[in-house]
Amino acid sequence: MTQENFNEGLLGFLDASPTPFHATQNMAGMFENAGFIKLYEEQRWELEPGKKYYLTRNDSSIIAFTYSGEKNYVMVGAHTDSPNLKVKPNPVIKEHGAVKFGVEPYGGLLLNTWFDRDLSLAGRVSYLDSNNIIKDALIDVKKPIAIIPSLAIHLDDKANQERSINAQSDILPILSTSDDFNFEQFLKEQLKISGVDEVKELYANDLNFYDVQNASFVGLNDDFIASARIDNLISCYVGMLSICSIDESKPMLFIANDHEEVGSSSTSGAGGSFLENTLHRVFDDYEEFVQMIRSSIMISADNAHAIHPNYPSKHDANHAPHINKGSVIKINASQRYASNSKTISRFMNVASSIDEPFQTFVTRSDMGCGSTIGPITATRLGIETLDIGVPTFAMHSIRELCGSKDAYSLYKIIVSFNDS
Ligand code: ZN
Repeated sequence: MTQENFNEGLLGFLDASPTPFHATQNMAGMFENAGFIKLYEEQRWELEPGKKYYLTRNDSSIIAFTYSGEKNYVMVGAHTDSPNLKVKPNPVIKEHGAVKFGVEPYGGLLLNTWFDRDLSLAGRVSYLDSNNIIKDALIDVKKPIAIIPSLAIHLDDKANQERSINAQSDILPILSTSDDFNFEQFLKEQLKISGVDEVKELYANDLNFYDVQNASFVGLNDDFIASARIDNLISCYVGMLSICSIDESKPMLFIANDHEEVGSSSTSGAGGSFLENTLHRVFDDYEEFVQMIRSSIMISADNAHAIHPNYPSKHDANHAPHINKGSVIKINASQRYASNSKTISRFMNVASSIDEPFQTFVTRSDMGCGSTIGPITATRLGIETLDIGVPTFAMHSIRELCGSKDAYSLYKIIVSFNDS
């Protein structure tokens, strides 16, 4: 696979995955095409050596793995969720000549980047069908149906010095000037577009707004990729392609969890039992299970902060990654990242063996830093873990920025891991 093919697929995946549900559905489709067999958690498993499998939880987390009986797994972990504005259960507010939706911020989003963008709506809707069975379906409106206009500078002359944003009142997307908008009718129409005709009653939904602008190359030489949800769909894409590229005789596992941006404590988050339950069923003997955990490695892939050319003081000068200069190994003494000298060395060894570059990130000692699913998974399972990621600008903006070379480079390193 060339870098051009790789990036073309990446842009398509970013555009087609406005929610964790869509990301999971798209990855499941990819695994189906690559010959992975679907497993269901509520059924008995009869695994056969030489085959490869995948399963989902809550339609928003996914695991894929090869199965050969060997225990030294290379695991790659990422997350399907990104910060967004989540629709409240009774969202419609009609006032001051406009129809607005009440929203709740999901994750640590940069709120100011959500103003003046063309927004659409997507997610999962649960309903009762004509046979009185509760079902759900994904919807994606696709066209821009909402916008959050800025307040004009004439009405706030301190805007460039001290504008603050109230999450309850200032960031409500405006959908219409027409008073006759009916939310239920709107959802039923969207379900119909998704192929659902028989809706007896609408129950609940998990919907979020997203920016309709497609991912694109930016820069004189297409240096950058600009898109929503680069954190962390780029790592989902790298992990998904990696496990599809390797020979199924090699022990490899890929997991993409939901809810990382809100702390990972959920059934489908890294703090939940999804990975542990799955591995226990693959290795049902406890002795074998522990042997497998202790001879495997988890590569926790999540974006890293590149040094911003306009804000260089925000980085430690000796640990300040550059865009398009390779994967970033993330290190933190307080174990906000799970990398240690052994797992780092293994990564360096693999990258060097195929001449791929790498960099290190340590946050300034007078600043806090983010975290990932790495330390959570390491704590839960006792698996040796490495935190790495693609260098990124504008993390948690509605439009993030990364390099056009780094994800492909990381993919090549991960594919080579099984040979190390
Ligand atoms: Zn992330």
